[in-house]
Amino acid sequence: MLWLVVLLITLWVLFYYKTPILLVTAILALLLGSYTKVFGLSLCSISLWGGFLLLFIPLNIPVIRRQLFSRWVFKLMKGALPPMSQTEREALEAGNTWWDAELFSGNPDWKVLQNLPVGRLTDEEQAFIDGPVETLCAMLNDWDITHNRKDLPQEVWDYIKQQKFCGMIIPKVYGGLEFSETAHSEIVMKIASRSTTAAVTVMVPNSLGPAKLLLNYGTEQQKNHYLPRLANGDEIPAFALTGPQAGSDASAMPDTGIVCYNQDKVLGIRLNWEKRYITLGPVATVLGLAFKLYDPDHLIGDKENIGITVALIPTDTPGVSIGRRHNPLDSAFQNGPNWGKDVFIPLDWIIGGAEQVGNGWKMLMQCLTTGRTVSLPALSVGAAKFTCRNTGAYARIRKQFNLPIGEFEGIEEPLARMAGETYILDAARKVTNAALDNGEKPAVISAILKYELTERMRRIVNDGMDIQGGSGICMGPRNYLGRIYQVIPVSITVEGANILTRTMMIFGQGAIRCHPYIQKEMAALQQNDLRQFDDLLFQHIGFFMHNMAAGFWLGLTNARFHKVPGNRNTRRYYRQIARLSAGFALFADFALLTLGGTLKRKERLSGLFADVLSNLYLCSCVLKHYQDQGCPKDEAPLLNWACQQSIYRAQQSLRAVFWKMPLRPLAWILRSLVFPTGKPYAPPGDLLIHKAASLLLADTPVRDRLTHGIYINSKTGDATGRIEVAFKAVLAAAPVEAKIRLAQKQKQLSKGDPFKMLAEALAKGIITQEEAELCATAEQARLAAISVDDFSAEELMGNVFKAE
Ligand SMILES: Cc1cc2nc3c(=O)[nH]c(=O)nc-3n(C[C@H](O)[C@H](O)[C@H](O)COP(=O)(O)OP(=O)(O)OC[C@H]3O[C@@H](n4cnc5c(N)ncnc54)[C@H](O)[C@@H]3O)c2cc1C
Repeated sequence: MLWLVVLLITLWVLFYYKTPILLVTAILALLLGSYTKVFGLSLCSISLWGGFLLLFIPLNIPVIRRQLFSRWVFKLMKGALPPMSQTEREALEAGNTWWDAELFSGNPDWKVLQNLPVGRLTDEEQAFIDGPVETLCAMLNDWDITHNRKDLPQEVWDYIKQQKFCGMIIPKVYGGLEFSETAHSEIVMKIASRSTTAAVTVMVPNSLGPAKLLLNYGTEQQKNHYLPRLANGDEIPAFALTGPQAGSDASAMPDTGIVCYNQDKVLGIRLNWEKRYITLGPVATVLGLAFKLYDPDHLIGDKENIGITVALIPTDTPGVSIGRRHNPLDSAFQNGPNWGKDVFIPLDWIIGGAEQVGNGWKMLMQCLTTGRTVSLPALSVGAAKFTCRNTGAYARIRKQFNLPIGEFEGIEEPLARMAGETYILDAARKVTNAALDNGEKPAVISAILKYELTERMRRIVNDGMDIQGGSGICMGPRNYLGRIYQVIPVSITVEGANILTRTMMIFGQGAIRCHPYIQKEMAALQQNDLRQFDDLLFQHIGFFMHNMAAGFWLGLTNARFHKVPGNRNTRRYYRQIARLSAGFALFADFALLTLGGTLKRKERLSGLFADVLSNLYLCSCVLKHYQDQGCPKDEAPLLNWACQQSIYRAQQSLRAVFWKMPLRPLAWILRSLVFPTGKPYAPPGDLLIHKAASLLLADTPVRDRLTHGIYINSKTGDATGRIEVAFKAVLAAAPVEAKIRLAQKQKQLSKGDPFKMLAEALAKGIITQEEAELCATAEQARLAAISVDDFSAEELMGNVFKAE
């Protein structure tokens, strides 16, 4: 028995330290030798030696190992390898991996994250945010835009073009602003906190629009023609990929281009397409169009079915129909269908010219991650910060049962969630933008950001709506949250709908791209390279064994001895990420090894793995963000809430993975290795919830930092300005209100109408004249802030609501 324990501990140490196979063999031989010496030759020792020699001699001689073992696995895996389409392959080859690969490794190298420079704005970018962006925000009246006009006012369109809002990513040599992704994100976030319509209008040319495609693939002539015109708004772009038959599966588009000559004997393409949902489409002057190109007469080469191709089509080209609009949840950004009937275009309208025929999908995959990584996250953080600031203030202003509603435990919970989640969202946004500015193009992380930030924003706004009660429901110019709530599904659906992003893309792509061996093994299988495969397979087995040993050790010790960065408060979170990363890597490998190609169809399982990876990524961003800010003490409740919630969620998802695993006995063993002491993590506790919620109810620097970067005003004629004014007035009057409440408790003052009560308190000398005025001002501001719009029947029926 003792010998068995020694054997297990030895194996564990060997695997933990990734010992080479030769050394493992030597150490095990020594151990067996000592066993034989102590217990003598017996049936047991002879069987042990037999088994040992049978297993370890072939393992140490690659030629034999390949024939006896790897060849067999090779065959099995080749049969199980799911077929991969060209578009899937191109999607997998787009971008690179970064911190996601570290988390997948089971042993993240913290230096990769720590060494990432903090994203900073240049003076020019800051001046743009303080100048034109601030001015644009002040010009925006969302109710007027979404209800009365169903469009941006002409002066706003003009200002957007004149200030080059559509040319943020275009280099200065082409007349653009050439801003970093950090600046791009800050700008979209600020505009989004004022008007989703304006934010989407600015977002699209800087992400989906063809500028990025032109920059990467355009010919010099195309760049020189289009980029300056796109930068100064002379051209309004739209990008048309989606159609009635091809939504999430965009590569299934039936839109065609046939290579042919026109009547003037010009070689070109005859296009037929039908697209829908195209943002800016109705006002676009140039359309980036994706279609499938065919060359039945072999006019440009041997291939008949050339593949997805992308061209730029001026919308006044004969045969193009454009201009009709959809109504996307009453938001007023331009969006609509378009179609083309026998539209002839010359070959040099293809982005990159004739050389780039058939490369459309690859180009799209390489370039269009901006929307997922920068624009939609910025939009989401804008909405989250906006909700925190305004609904948080509302919870302080609004009183029921003689108390601000934010002080009730029931309301504290959503408030804490709003604050904590917003902290997570902003951290992920900032850290990921810094990574982009540092040259990373992390494709899996872009899917994580798209899914998690839009999904969590939905939750934050939902919480906000619950807290706002009726004032969030009754639409009108005073309602600042209703439209944001209404338009949430747009960001959930666009650029990879969320269900698909979670259940197919994050882990589906991550398992191949971020795993240290899978992609290389697949390549070896495809190239029929048994030698290479054998090499990789044995490294992979070593990796699995190491993660098993590491997972158990970290689980048993709660990672207490694991070397991590951080300070007294943060070290524990770094350790838990390391622990969960080892568990995640182990479970992921187990799923890959046991389910193989069928894992692709196991979307529920894939979704759970995605949740683990996403929470680990977001938690890492929170720690990095906290550290980048100099570990401010007043942010500790947000940091703690965010980390505890993320780690708890990762744990729950990883445990849920277990229930979906095949080979139950093995799965049980793995679970006991990763969670030897049960469930170690709990969600944020009551005191932490109270502390995090309180941050939204007071006018503090940490609240300002949490909501930094959104548009804030103090105009009493503006819906959010009124809230800002009332919040400050109510807080200023709070000590006087406390005096009054005390007097009421002591029966010195009656309860009832606040203004009468103030007069009575003043008359009885309970408060001074100045205090009475402070309270009266606060009360007036409070009433103005909580009031809602009403309309005459004619106004409602006639749809002629007017903005204030
Ligand atoms: C307001 C708006 C603006 C847009 N702007 C543009 C634009 O400018 N250019 C452009 O080309 N397109 C644009 N789109 C299109 C957008 O990208 C698509 O709507 C999106 O890709 C989803 O397609 P679909 O709406 O047809 O939904 P479907 O593809 O029908 O999907 C419906 C649901 O099924 C789920 N689903 C589908 N397949 C799977 C799967 N394999 N596993 C799990 N779940 C799955 C999806 O997640 C979704 O929840 C826009 C759409 C909207 C609504």
